[in-house]
Amino acid sequence: MKSLSILGATGSIGSNALDIVRQFPDRFTVNALTAKTRVAALARQIVEFTPRMAAVIDAEHARQLKALLPPTADVEIVFGEAGYVEAATCPETDMVLGAMVGSAGLVPTLAAIDAGKDIALANKETLVMAGALVMEKVARRGVKLMPVDSEHSAIFQSMAGQGRNGVREILLTASGGPFLKRPATDFNAITPQDALRHPNWSMGRKISIDSATLMNKGLEVIEARWLFGIDFQRIKVVVHPQSIVHSMVVYQDGAVIAQMGVPDMKGAIAYGLSHPRRLPLDVPAPDFAHIGQLTFEEPDLERFPCLALAYRAGEQGGTLPAVLNAANEVAVDAFLDNRLPFVGIYPIIDQTLNHHTGVYGADLGQLIEADRWARETADTLVRRQER
Ligand code: NAD
Ligand code: MG
Repeated sequence: MKSLSILGATGSIGSNALDIVRQFPDRFTVNALTAKTRVAALARQIVEFTPRMAAVIDAEHARQLKALLPPTADVEIVFGEAGYVEAATCPETDMVLGAMVGSAGLVPTLAAIDAGKDIALANKETLVMAGALVMEKVARRGVKLMPVDSEHSAIFQSMAGQGRNGVREILLTASGGPFLKRPATDFNAITPQDALRHPNWSMGRKISIDSATLMNKGLEVIEARWLFGIDFQRIKVVVHPQSIVHSMVVYQDGAVIAQMGVPDMKGAIAYGLSHPRRLPLDVPAPDFAHIGQLTFEEPDLERFPCLALAYRAGEQGGTLPAVLNAANEVAVDAFLDNRLPFVGIYPIIDQTLNHHTGVYGADLGQLIEADRWARETADTLVRRQER
């Protein structure tokens, strides 16, 4: 029996993970659940999965959550960053699923590693911000870090039995998002509703916008660099609109090993939670004859400049990836609030990076300070273009 703390339980990844727990009650128990503000959804999950602890963003939401629970519910409610850390480090927890969105996942994930917990990580922003720190702690504490992002799960699976030996390069596949075929001249008219309509995957709002700009793939390149210890020149992106090949590893003899499946996160989540065992899931295999063709093409860095920006920040290293990530979070929020056009996202991130003086070998405090600085700078830039 594996006892889980699920950070970001009410989200797309979190609720898919709870579906898996529901299907395998003899394999998993839920020890802690967290959410930001969606207390009604969290209350339903608490009633069903009876965790010992639940955490929300602040005291007011903790009070609202308590009011929604039946008086018999035996759950400790905590809040704020300290609350998320408590949920991530409970003594009874074996594995933490990091499924929060954005930089909020960083501190609880690091605390969980320090406490010796195994980690299943969907929250790629944590590795983008602090990959060196995370990997160093993982090695020091000897915990398991399982990728949940579908591409990274695919790479992990494609390396099974061979490790990094003889890897020539990694090919990260990208669906290309909803605007793959849209001419650049039409990008001005893109609304949040257009951008949220992903052709293949159903995901949270922030990652859906990141998929539309291809920043998601850029963040994943940085994530892969840390998870697999491979330099940026050997991580390539290939657009594959069918999203059947989840990613590939090229070996030094020219052999390519790929992992395939239908676009459904359940497989990657379940594998992350139960590795090395594969669980019997109600997920079909791709119907290849019906799909007919799998196609591949180069990403268009002119229409999707965020991908190149992520490579640049990743290669420069230090605090730059944390700044890239924070500026992107601010720009995406502003776009979703109709305060910034879709084509305004890239310039905000680019200008924020240009204003930044990188700190190399940064510790956690310096990374958090870079994140704070980048949010303030990006926010100022958003306001300036609003006038
Ligand atoms: P989502 O928006 O559906 O859910 C996010 C969860 O995090 C919610 O439970 C929310 O309450 C919580 N949360 C949000 N902001 C928070 C904050 N400031 N503090 C504490 N909790 C907060 O997001 P999602 O699509 O499930 O994505 C979660 C993470 O997984 C992201 O990092 C994303 O990049 C990654 N991921 C998602 C998918 C997918 O298919 N959805 C695939 C690969 C990777
Ligand atoms: Mg992915």
